[in-house]
Amino acid sequence: MHVSFWEQESFYNDIDYAIIGSGIVGLSAAVELKNKYPNAKVVVLEKGFLPSGASTKNAGFACFGSPTEILDDLSSMSEAEVFAMVEKRWKGLLNLKALLGEENLGYEALGSCELFTKNDEQIYEETIQQLDYLNQFLKPIFGAPVFEVKDELINEFGFDNISHIIANKFEGQIDTGKALKSLLKLAKDKGVEVLNGVNVEAVNQKENKVAITLKEFEIEAANVLVATNGFAKQILSDLNVEPARAQVLITEPIEGLKLKGTFHYEQGYYYFRNVGDRVLFGGGRNLAFKEENTAEFGLTSTIQNKLDELLKHVILPYKKGVKVELRWAGVMGVGDTKTTIVKQLDENIYCAVRMGGMGVAIGSLIGKEAVEFF
Ligand SMILES: Cc1cc2nc3c(=O)[nH]c(=O)nc-3n(C[C@H](O)[C@H](O)[C@H](O)COP(=O)(O)OP(=O)(O)OC[C@H]3O[C@@H](n4cnc5c(N)ncnc54)[C@H](O)[C@@H]3O)c2cc1C
Repeated sequence: MHVSFWEQESFYNDIDYAIIGSGIVGLSAAVELKNKYPNAKVVVLEKGFLPSGASTKNAGFACFGSPTEILDDLSSMSEAEVFAMVEKRWKGLLNLKALLGEENLGYEALGSCELFTKNDEQIYEETIQQLDYLNQFLKPIFGAPVFEVKDELINEFGFDNISHIIANKFEGQIDTGKALKSLLKLAKDKGVEVLNGVNVEAVNQKENKVAITLKEFEIEAANVLVATNGFAKQILSDLNVEPARAQVLITEPIEGLKLKGTFHYEQGYYYFRNVGDRVLFGGGRNLAFKEENTAEFGLTSTIQNKLDELLKHVILPYKKGVKVELRWAGVMGVGDTKTTIVKQLDENIYCAVRMGGMGVAIGSLIGKEAVEFF
């Protein structure tokens, strides 16, 4: 394809900052760049006709870690590292709220619960023994105890096969679609240009600028930020970031739905929440880690059947014949540690990737952090 003079002049020339990927990280970075340099030409290149990574497909948990998850992190990381990680997630959530406002996020402060079954008795006992320590440990961040045993919620929420609940009043949930739409609008209102249907194949440093290879032609930018998370290796093959697919489902509206809030089950391998009077349910990557190490969006019967089974017997035992309305998958970016990769890769090439399962919490802050390079 030959680019016209007009396309070249108005769309592709004189790009100061090209951001690849219009997820929460890419768009937050674009907004920050416009705040910092209002006259700069900031262009976001997105391969999908919508943002098409994890940011429009996630479960919308505004979370920072369940008790078992934080204790598990403390077994492999130092106290200072874990504290900094949780603090960053919390500050990230505050940053996201400040950026878009609770209304535009569809934010609901409904709290969260970690659920324990009879099979988890040992891990529950170990967690309970450490609960005071955990609350003390996190007090400088939250100013009050975070975790509290609330077994009385088991009946209130109508669960079966659940023995214990540890509740957390500081976590909440967002409307993922509303949030991304608001972020996209904010970016466009600030003058960011978002070009959709642009699949970047490569980025290469040239003298003082970057060549961006698309399928049929090449464009240039003074600086490039790669924010493609789970897809990052397709452009930057040396990065230590792997795709991790996550599958979810959502039910039709359920009359008399008892549960409200977000829930972590089986040490976080499963997670569910209410979306109004529906249940959104995901997880099960532990059933097929290898198969789910992919950037393809497909669904598998191994995982979907397990989700169906748990939905029926654990989450909604009091409701017969609930129908699933939609099923989908998204791709996260993970690595051998939970830290993000925000770094300079060449003179004018940077990346901000590997958000793991906490991109809602940290994504906007990571976008902001990346802009400190510029
Ligand atoms: C099912 C699921 C549930 C989740 N639940 C939660 C949750 O409850 N809470 C939470 O905090 N986190 C959750 N996450 C993780 C969270 O969604 C991610 O960490 C976060 O969205 C990552 O944002 P990002 O901007 O880094 O990446 P993405 O949102 O993946 O954005 C990357 C963008 O880059 C684009 N792109 C990729 N390659 C190219 C290319 N070559 N050229 C141009 N564009 C390209 C993609 O289309 C995409 O739009 C979940 C993830 C999934 C999949």
